[in-house]
Amino acid sequence: MSGAEAPAASRLPGPARNMALEDVRAKADKAREAQAQWRRYTLTQRVERVRGFWRELQASKDRLISVVHRETGKPATEIEVMELCGVELILKYFTRNAHRILKDQAASRPWIFLNKKAYVRHVPRGLVGLITPWNYPLLIPLGDALAALIAGNAVLLKPSEWTTDTAMFLEGVFKATGLFPDGLLAVAPGDGTVGAEVIAQADMILFTGSTKTGRAVAKAAAERLIPCVLELGGKHPMIVLKDAPLERAAKAAVWGRFANSGQTCVGVERVYVEQEVYDAFTELVAREVSQLRQGLEPGYDVDLGRLIYPRQLETVLALINDAKEKGARVVGGEVVDADRLVVAPALVLDAKQEMRVMREEAFGPVLPIMAVRASEEAVRLANDSELGLAASIWSRDLARAETLAAHLEAGLIGVNDLMGHYAVCSLPFGGFKQSGVGRRHSDDGLRMFCQSQSVLAHEWPANAPEPWWFPYNELKVKLVSWLTKLS
Ligand code: NAD
Repeated sequence: MSGAEAPAASRLPGPARNMALEDVRAKADKAREAQAQWRRYTLTQRVERVRGFWRELQASKDRLISVVHRETGKPATEIEVMELCGVELILKYFTRNAHRILKDQAASRPWIFLNKKAYVRHVPRGLVGLITPWNYPLLIPLGDALAALIAGNAVLLKPSEWTTDTAMFLEGVFKATGLFPDGLLAVAPGDGTVGAEVIAQADMILFTGSTKTGRAVAKAAAERLIPCVLELGGKHPMIVLKDAPLERAAKAAVWGRFANSGQTCVGVERVYVEQEVYDAFTELVAREVSQLRQGLEPGYDVDLGRLIYPRQLETVLALINDAKEKGARVVGGEVVDADRLVVAPALVLDAKQEMRVMREEAFGPVLPIMAVRASEEAVRLANDSELGLAASIWSRDLARAETLAAHLEAGLIGVNDLMGHYAVCSLPFGGFKQSGVGRRHSDDGLRMFCQSQSVLAHEWPANAPEPWWFPYNELKVKLVSWLTKLS
């Protein structure tokens, strides 16, 4: 990126100011009032209105893209393809399947209860608190908010303090549609202090962010005994076996690491390549990286933008320096523009497992590649991490790759593929180990925004007591025991 192409402002805007906590509480109260109306809408009405909002948002697409671009520096292609198309696929899955997923479910019952109806009803939780990160300011909050709304809830969203404008824009369009009770989707801008207040107000928390903050959120939610789903960090190991389709694998590694400038929880964080194809693979990767077009211009012909969160620059540079000190060959990784957080894509060749870049979440444009002797070693090293969000394995022998993949400790597995799970909303999305608790998406990911209410309704004979009620006697014991045995 040349200096001449730089936008007028040389520094990026800082974090959003915290909303006053009494205003957060007022928003929560209003959202609850709105939810009391919203939950009485039929599911068909809710689905139609959510679709109506989506149509309005599409009409403002260009403005929305420019807001996201301004606060993240993402290439327009990524905003449209990875964020907007992603939300659309999530919306389609939940709107098309909501009736099937949320309908009352008949439950089997023992013979002794045959004269009763048993079923499960899905009752909205009330006020769902969403606490979200800065890396996908549209996809993550909106996808989750739409699901929570369809399930009959109000939403109190605390976006990252670094990407508040996108959330405010969404709140504005949502309100302007006039399709929803006032205040049903509310945004509370600010940092962790506001996040803590959201936890204090909500009936459920869906948190997306770092493992460290996730632990604090889980404690606060436990204090209130509210459910808490945690979608946390990742350290995606990509395993390239010697029979892998190398061209595809190399392109995947480059996109899987450098899309969104490496700031993707499921992005490739480390590559293990069988040594026979190490040179061929790294050459292909280097060629791909050399062709990336980096810039902060708003058009579609840009591949790579900037870092979003200032401290991320220190993290990336520290990991690169550590790798250099421990003997890696680093290609790229220069700071192009420190004020605007532009760092060139970095390849860390001859990486070793003990390097920090192989162990800590980098969440930036740095791709370490390490040679391994055999697939077993690759699987062992891949699992040598506290994190277990995504992993992938690459081989022309699909059956063998799928068998090996079963040994990987990760919630999201790619076989000759990566980073698509979020858009396949029928799949549960979430991590093993320290990468999270619970799952978003899939049928259960819509039902999690509801409490299950178990209903047992006596049908006949209308006025007769049960044999296990008072008064007790031996004959009743024999009768109930006999009926139980028959059941
Ligand atoms: P972060 O943990 O710093 O912040 C996440 C959110 O939590 C922000 O809105 C922040 O203001 C808020 N917060 C901070 N302290 C809080 C507290 N004490 N109580 C309540 N809220 C608090 O994470 P980040 O830097 O914004 O995001 C990057 C991380 O998110 C990476 O680790 C990445 O892997 C992870 N991530 C995970 C997923 C997933 O689906 N698993 C998706 C995207 C990002």
